[in-house]
Order: sequence, then structure tokens, then C-alpha cells
Amino acid sequence: MSRPRTCVIGAGMSGLAAVHALTRAGLEVSCYEAGSNVGGMWRYENDSGMSAAYRSLQTNTSRERMQYPSFPMPGSMPEFPHHSDVLAYLESYATEHDLARHISFRARVEQVRSAEGEWEVTAAGDSARRFDWVVVAGGHYWDPAIPTVPGEFSGTLIHARDYRTPERLAGMRVVVVGGSQSALDIATEISTLAQRTILACDHVHHLIPWRIFGRPYDELDTAMSLLAPLPIVSLMMRAAMRIARVTPDRGALPPAGHPLFSTRWPAVVSPRVEAAVAAGAFASRPSVSALERETVVFADGTTEPADAIVFASGYRINFPFLAEDLGSGRGFEFPLYRRILSPHVRGLAFIGVLEPGPGLFEIVERQSQWLAAVITGRLPIPDDQAIWRAIDAGGERRSRRQFAATGAHTILCNRHAYLRVLARDLSKRHAAGSMPAAQEVADRECAARPTERPRPGRRLPAAVASARLQARLLSSTANEVASADASGTLADLAKHRYALLVTFRGDGTPVATPVWAAVARPFVYIRAERNSGKVKRLRKNPRALLAPCTSQGRPLGAPVLVTGRVLDAREAHTAEHALAGRYGIFRAVFERTMDMMRVDMCHLALSPEHSAEPTQGNRAAEAELT
Ligand SMILES: Cc1cc2nc3c(=O)[nH]c(=O)nc-3n(C[C@H](O)[C@H](O)[C@H](O)COP(=O)(O)OP(=O)(O)OC[C@H]3O[C@@H](n4cnc5c(N)ncnc54)[C@H](O)[C@@H]3O)c2cc1C
Repeated sequence: MSRPRTCVIGAGMSGLAAVHALTRAGLEVSCYEAGSNVGGMWRYENDSGMSAAYRSLQTNTSRERMQYPSFPMPGSMPEFPHHSDVLAYLESYATEHDLARHISFRARVEQVRSAEGEWEVTAAGDSARRFDWVVVAGGHYWDPAIPTVPGEFSGTLIHARDYRTPERLAGMRVVVVGGSQSALDIATEISTLAQRTILACDHVHHLIPWRIFGRPYDELDTAMSLLAPLPIVSLMMRAAMRIARVTPDRGALPPAGHPLFSTRWPAVVSPRVEAAVAAGAFASRPSVSALERETVVFADGTTEPADAIVFASGYRINFPFLAEDLGSGRGFEFPLYRRILSPHVRGLAFIGVLEPGPGLFEIVERQSQWLAAVITGRLPIPDDQAIWRAIDAGGERRSRRQFAATGAHTILCNRHAYLRVLARDLSKRHAAGSMPAAQEVADRECAARPTERPRPGRRLPAAVASARLQARLLSSTANEVASADASGTLADLAKHRYALLVTFRGDGTPVATPVWAAVARPFVYIRAERNSGKVKRLRKNPRALLAPCTSQGRPLGAPVLVTGRVLDAREAHTAEHALAGRYGIFRAVFERTMDMMRVDMCHLALSPEHSAEPTQGNRAAEAELT
């Protein structure tokens, strides 16, 4: 059977993830991008004309939420990156995976229509091409939604999408319409140069500080929150801000109009905005009710003379290249199965058309992996009725509760609940069809990846105590392995459930620890806390011994002389896959708990000295370890 031909529209954050996942699944992928480079809205002044980035734009989600799980952002990036940092990161992702060769730039898709069971895609300056699947990753923050206001305005009118810098509004009287992050960012910035700035809105979103207890606020948003009812989660967040004394001063801003985290996700996160609000840098008025040439009338009947209005009033979901019934949303309504597949027609998918709370990167990577499983036939699509039933049910249980099952919030979702549903689907996928080798690797990555990013350097306070306890319970014969003849083999190790890892202190004293270990030639893999004694010792001296043992560390055979190294993120997936395949639920629960508590874990590869030729990888790793 020939491989499905797949077209991806857009090479922003969503499109790049899609191209990567689909090509790795062995699919033939052609991507069309309207601009002349990758990056989408994170490319300031993108020549696609579709980026809403303003010059000062910084993310309102932390670095950890602004990275694909498979491609961590360098630690040198600011904790809340500037738009240029995000663009640099996206460029490096595209380079790392050699994605540009699948992308046609300056190729705006003008029409996608179904033709004889296929999709016909026409891009500017190109002839129509046929595909089996169309994946829309064109972004949904580019088509301005401007409220209809009676009357006429004689001054300057712009939408936030076209706002770049405050200079053109210097000395003017400016009304900024909106209560979201962009509205407050823009009002704050304009207030430094304008004669007078007014924010017009009935409700302004909740303000949340960048950091709580010195950590990025979104670290508090973990999958554990699914265990508590929403009002408790909201209460805990408020309590945390209060105890940490970082609750932002709302000054004269109108109330949020909804409980924190409920009904709408977005919150305003910006120290600059906080400072401006606290200092009263701009005034607040209710929404605009009429325009009378150079005067703006507000809902409470007050008026203000104005030279300019900036509408930071949101965007419409719009994919103009699709027929109306397939490509435009009403408000927040854009029904999709699993927030990915069009329920109207087969072979049409969307990546990134949702609002999952802080950070979309992990979501779009998972969506892309899910979609790859569907297109390769390994994840069956339910029938139309089941698809509509799932959509009508209003999404995942927590999303339903959080954002109301009115059908009006089909793009708002709780990220953790949603990721869980995708993961559950993906765990069922192998039943159908065969799997290309590249996809198998991608699948493993997906299965092995913890949902939460570890907190660098984190050890649980109980870890030291439990290491001591383990040392006490350790078999008295454990350390004798250090003086035994290193004549063991990997085959011996593979026969036993536990392995005794013996690392050496600076003075040569051996320290033995029983570990879960998986043999996958030429390596033996283990997982450990990055700051544990054994990892520290291995960093100083990569030579160690491994012997089969009981759970308490009683040696069951001769040791193997090994060299250890810490694995990078990519190799860690292979290691985790080997370990997960060997051990059952007990280890899975233990490791999952570590991940959920965001303990900084790492995987190690131990290679037998006699068979481990010093490959380039080994050398680099040895450099890291020493
Ligand atoms: C001002 C602003 C600030 C934001 N800040 C954050 C933040 O801090 N954190 C966060 O997680 N999210 C933020 N977001 C959300 C942000 O949109 C997403 O993070 C993400 O960039 C969306 O990526 P995307 O690839 O889906 O869309 P885009 O980045 O918009 O990329 C879509 C791409 O598709 C191309 N395209 C569109 N139509 C066509 C066509 N017909 N033919 C060919 N190509 C086409 C476009 O040229 C573009 O390159 C912000 C959004 C805005 C507007």
C-alpha cells in the first residue's frame, strides 16, 4: 500500500511539530508556509503579515512550557523568553530535524477542496496538488475580531495584531479596548508615551505574578491538580500567592468576572503590567458603547476625547482556504474530535486550534504524534456517530467542568486532562496495522516521556533518608563484589531481576546499590536521581561494576566492569523504553511519582569495558562525566 500523501499548512510552532511527527512516521509530507521562513507568530514582522508579535512581547508562560518535550530549550534562555528567543528556538528545532526540506516558503494556500476522495490544495504561484490528508496548522491569532460599535470615529483605529511599538501613538489620547494579556501589555507600553491612556473593558482577566515562592507560577499547574476539585485548586493558587506575598495589586481595574481558572483560562502575567496598574499608569473605563467622531462613549455614559483606539479584542478562528462550513469558528466554537480531527469530513485535521492554559508546545507535539498514529492506520478513528457523541459530550471531564459543556468553549481545555486522553488513545494504538520503524521510535519517545518537566537539581527531602535506610538494609556481602573477578556477562545480568551497581569514591572505597536495570545490548540502562551519590560518583569516576543481585543487594554472580554515562534526552527514551518493558506496575508507579513530584531524574547507560569501543558518543559522555 502506498504511503498517504500529507499536506501541512503553516510552519509555526504547530506546523513544525506536525511535519516532524509525520515525517518520522514515514509519511510523505509537503508543508506550505505563507511567509519566507519558519516561526509563525514568533517571527516579529513576519512577511506572512500574520504575526501579532509586538516589539516588547515576552511570553506569559515560562521557558519550560515554551518547549517541545522532545527538544528542551537551552537553559541559557530567559525564564520568560522574549519573542526573539522563541523564534531562535523554533529555528533550531527546524534545523535539528532538517524540516525545511519539506517546506515550500512564500506559498500561501489559497484553496483546499475535496476532489474525488482526495484533497486538492492550491497555493499561490503553484499548481494544484492532490493529497490524502490535509493538516491545518495555520494559527488562530491572526484574523482580528473587532466589536461592532455604533457611530463613527475620526481618529486612528488599529487592532492589536497590527500594533508593534508605542511611538506612532506618542502624545495621543488613546483608548485600548480589551481585558486580556495583549490589551494590558499594550496599554502599559502606550502609557509611557501617550498623553492619556484608557483601558476600556467590563472585565479584566486575573493577574498572576511571574513567580510564586521564587519559581515560575506555571510550575504550580501540575497534573496533580486533576485530583482536587477546581474550587480547591483555585483556592490553593490564591493562598499560595497570598502566603508568598505576591498577589498583584489590581488597582482600579474592573473585576475578572469569573473565578480563577474557571470559564476562561487566560490570565495576565507580566511584572511590567503589574507595576503600571499599581502606579495607575492608565485609567479604566467600562466597555465602549458608541463613537462620536473624536469622542468615545463608555457603557456607564462617561465620555473621553480620543485620538486613537487600539482594539485588543481578540481573534476569529478562520481558515479562509477551506469551505465556510469547515474552516471558520463562532467565538470559541470550533468542534473537532480530540480537538484534532474535523468531524465533518475525513482526511482533515487541525493542530494547535485550542487554548490549553499555559503553553502549547507539549500539546502540539502530542497532537502531532496522535495524528501520525491515525494517518498510519495504527489508531482507528471511530465512526461519525461516536465522533459527534464525543464532541457533544464537551471534551475531557475536567475541561467540561472547568469551561462548561455549553459547546461554546470547544477550544478551551484543561491541558492535563487533555494530555491524558491523548496518551490513553496512544496506548491503544498498536492493535491496528503495522508500524514503520521510524514511528516505532517516535512512539517509544511518547510513551516514555514524563508529562511534567523535572525541576533541575531537585531531590526529595526524604531521598537522603531512604538512601541511608537502603544502605542499612543492604546485604552484608554486597560490597564484596568489588573485590571479585570481573568475569560476569550481560547475559548473566539479563537473567536476574536486580543489578548491584558498585561505584567508587575518590579514595577508591566501593559503594554498592541495588538498582532496576535493563540490558539492551550494548548497554545496561538504569534510572536514578541526578543528584544521588551514585550519579555523582559516576560523574567523577565513570568506571563501575555491575553484578546480578537480589532486591537487597546480595550478589548472585560475578560482576561486569562497566563505564557509565548520563544520557541526553533523546537516548533517555530508548533507555526508559527498555526499563519500562522489563519492570511492571511497581516501578511504573514509583517512576511516575518521581516525575509528578518533578524530581530531577536521569538515565544512565553502562557499557561493558571490553566491548565498549570509545565511540564519539562515549567520549562526549565521558567528558560530561568527568
Ligand atoms: C500576542 C500573542 C502572544 C502570545 N503569547 C503566548 C505565550 O506567551 N505562550 C504561549 O504558549 N502562547 C502564546 N500565544 C499563543 C501562540 O499563538 C502560540 O503559542 C503559537 O505560537 C501558535 O502557533 P501556531 O503554529 O499554531 O500558529 P502561528 O504561530 O500563527 O503559525 C501559523 C503559520 O501558518 C502560516 N499560515 C497561515 N495561513 C496560511 C496559509 N493559508 N498558507 C500557508 N501558510 C499559512 C502562517 O504564516 C504562520 O507561519 C500568543 C499569541 C499571541 C497572538
